[in-house]
Amino acid sequence: MLNYDLIVCGAGPSGAMAAATAAQAGLKVALLEKRTLPRHKTCGGGTPMVMQTLLHELVPEAFVEANVASLRQTWKFSDPYLTAINPPQVDRPLSIWMMQRSIFDNALAQRAAKAGAELHDGLAVRAIDVDQDGVRVRAQAIKPNGDRSKGDAWVATARVVIGADGANGVTAKAANLRQKPTIALGMEVELPHTWGTGHPDLRPEVAHLEYGAIDRGYAWIFPKADHLNVGAGLFRPNGQDARNVPHIREALQQTIVDYLEAMQVPYDRAQLKFHGHPLPLWGGKEPLNTTDGRILLVGDAAGLINPAFGDGILYAAKSGIIAANCVINGTTTTYSDRIHTEFGNSFDAARRLAYFFYQYPKLFYQYGVKNPRAAHIATQLLAGEIPFDSILGRAFRRVGTGLLSSFLPGKMMR
Ligand SMILES: Cc1cc2nc3c(=O)[nH]c(=O)nc-3n(C[C@H](O)[C@H](O)[C@H](O)COP(=O)(O)OP(=O)(O)OC[C@H]3O[C@@H](n4cnc5c(N)ncnc54)[C@H](O)[C@@H]3O)c2cc1C
Repeated sequence: MLNYDLIVCGAGPSGAMAAATAAQAGLKVALLEKRTLPRHKTCGGGTPMVMQTLLHELVPEAFVEANVASLRQTWKFSDPYLTAINPPQVDRPLSIWMMQRSIFDNALAQRAAKAGAELHDGLAVRAIDVDQDGVRVRAQAIKPNGDRSKGDAWVATARVVIGADGANGVTAKAANLRQKPTIALGMEVELPHTWGTGHPDLRPEVAHLEYGAIDRGYAWIFPKADHLNVGAGLFRPNGQDARNVPHIREALQQTIVDYLEAMQVPYDRAQLKFHGHPLPLWGGKEPLNTTDGRILLVGDAAGLINPAFGDGILYAAKSGIIAANCVINGTTTTYSDRIHTEFGNSFDAARRLAYFFYQYPKLFYQYGVKNPRAAHIATQLLAGEIPFDSILGRAFRRVGTGLLSSFLPGKMMR
């Protein structure tokens, strides 16, 4: 039977980074991906440029399609606020990369293969069992059209398995972890676009964010080389799972269509391909490895999506590296603690902020978003340069002061 030091289930950013890190250290690694690569991944594809620090030899030109330097934000498609991410004379200018996930993820998977990981795409993990010798993984070949291939199952054992199989994966269930996930829901369409047409603020260096059009969420337009990624998400469901909110898919679709109208983007409704996908949000500190340290969860499989903004690519990549280092160092039983130390306090604060932001979005739009420094601070948060717990008090004070001043005669406190 095949035997590995590490089997990684799923070749998104979390799995590909884990596999590359472990293979670079000389471990025998298998990276299994159920879809045939390159594959579409439902996502906005925006990530802070600090991602480069994790990629080393992989150059941005290979996958960055637009470099965003300004944000245009609106409340119910009006009251626009266009602002540069970097205020004048900022020490270290920041930007947000826009990528197509099919290209980015494939580049990461090929990088892992180049580092020595055995990459098997079109192979879906079906069962994971732990015994005293290690972990046994059973997988089934899948054709590019999604049908099962006939033939024997792929079976192998490993010292450790990393579950990088995303929101709908099998590893968390097999490991009895993440039994009460908090699930948001996002939807996007991709539209070919010719720059210079539509609304004058549609430009390759501008990302668009809209609050108020969708209840307890936001919508976006992200620029790519020759198309727009237009999406909407419900990021603060009343219950634990946004997929159970009545008529939510219709509401997200309508918001996307309304955004296209507002930005004068021509479209044919019948041709729009809406892709929806769950986002497993951070719901608080919980175990992310089995007590024996044989199975670890990373990225979306671990619920490492920022509950305030709904981004997860950077945390997926970082958690993949942390998990691989735990395997390399033989410290897999400490993996959960490592993740909690890295992200816990910031994500807990982001959760508190999200609760109020999505409850009172108009207030936050008026007194938080429409602040000349807000775009820079948001990008610093996105990049992990500052944690959410460092800005929480200030954010609440600013919104509270703004609200109070609006009641005072002559707006004394502004
Ligand atoms: C609509 C939407 C918009 C988003 N926009 C952004 C954004 O702009 N910026 C951002 O940072 N984040 C965004 N996110 C979140 C981001 O997409 C995820 O956080 C990120 O993809 C997590 O990476 P991952 O490697 O953990 O999981 P994934 O990228 O989901 O990768 C998991 C992989 O595992 C594979 N897999 C699943 N099951 C199996 C199996 N049984 N066997 C083998 N392989 C399997 C899947 O095919 C997939 O390739 C968005 C999400 C959604 C839904």
